[in-house]
Amino acid sequence: MDDASTKAKQSLTSWLDIPDDSDFSIHNIPFGIFKTKSIPPRCCTAIGNYAVDLVVLAEHGYFNSEDISSITFRHENLNEFISLGKEKTNKVRERLIELFSQDNNELQRKRDLHPFVFHKHDQVTMMLPVRVGNYTDFYSSKEHATNVGSMFRDPNNALLPNWEHLPVAYHGRASSIVVSGTPLIRPKGQFKTSKNDALPTFGPTQSLDYELELAFVIGKNSKIGEAIAIEKTEEYIFGFVLFNDWSARDIQSWEYVPLGPFLSKNFMSSMSPWIITTEALAYYKTKGPAQDVQVLPYLRFEGDANYDIELEIELQPEGEQATRISRTNFKHLYWNVRQQLAHHTVNGCNVCVGDIMASGTISGPARDNAGCLLEQTRNGQEPIIINGVPRKFLHDGDTVIMKGFASKDGQRVGFGKLEGKVIKAKAVDD
Ligand code: MN
Repeated sequence: MDDASTKAKQSLTSWLDIPDDSDFSIHNIPFGIFKTKSIPPRCCTAIGNYAVDLVVLAEHGYFNSEDISSITFRHENLNEFISLGKEKTNKVRERLIELFSQDNNELQRKRDLHPFVFHKHDQVTMMLPVRVGNYTDFYSSKEHATNVGSMFRDPNNALLPNWEHLPVAYHGRASSIVVSGTPLIRPKGQFKTSKNDALPTFGPTQSLDYELELAFVIGKNSKIGEAIAIEKTEEYIFGFVLFNDWSARDIQSWEYVPLGPFLSKNFMSSMSPWIITTEALAYYKTKGPAQDVQVLPYLRFEGDANYDIELEIELQPEGEQATRISRTNFKHLYWNVRQQLAHHTVNGCNVCVGDIMASGTISGPARDNAGCLLEQTRNGQEPIIINGVPRKFLHDGDTVIMKGFASKDGQRVGFGKLEGKVIKAKAVDD
């Protein structure tokens, strides 16, 4: 990992025309799955304005390795590629950086090949990058947990006694994880319309919300019965995506006691299509918030374990301009990903390639650092104004757009966009 951060410090330039504000600089080189009308789903990377077909590069011998052939990349998800292990996948990434570098003309001079290798982002359809077997959602932002605890329970005891001793999480639903761009049908369920109601009602949620999160993708299987030691955790993390854990707050507040979230969360979660590798993000590591309560030895770590990643949320009402409503940073996360993974496996629970571990809503110290509307509007008590209209929760026709990027010394590594539009609930007799 120190190798990766040292390497990133050398500023690389490319022979490709990459806009300065591109998330997909030569320092990024993420992995994803794309298709077009004529090309079946397959592995790709991104650089500048292009998705890059790795099958075509392999067919033309650009990886000069026995382990890597066009078959490696002919899959409709990245699970098999990731399963090759970091040593091999990092070599592919480093080779791509080499091929795109200014001083390398191996691919640059093959102009007749370029139309088959490079596809503009708006000419391809991005797919869900991994087959997700398991999904866990943490609750690792202290600001978020404090705000939610204050609203749902008691402002004087917002954090439960366990919160500063372990990274709280619940097991989510993998089947309903979808890729950016998939519309969300407003979910229906049971809820109380006011605290004084004796009985619940049934209908479309009246308090639909998003949750801004980052998730990491497991890159290596572990065995049942074996805990992953905190200093080994990074070997198991392939990379990161933006994640929107859509939530129905009215359903949530009625159902969550005593076993936690269920139908308020599992109707759909959205993830961004490009997996940004841990290696690309290593240069942006930073300190996390101080953990004042001493944790048990298996959760103690050394060095910087948080990441300085700027995050933004935009809301675009139907037929209107998108407005930025929140900005925060992944570095605010109290429990870091190493602690999350060490805790997840300390009891012997195994993890599998493609599993998704989401951070929980990422909020920061200020109100406009809120990672969800529940916090930003104080559960609808203090609406925010968007294009002149007061807003408590999401309306039908709203598109939620999340963005994330790290930037230092003129080098930018970003996630692209994660977006989803809210569609009216289906009528009961549909
Ligand atoms: Mn969540």
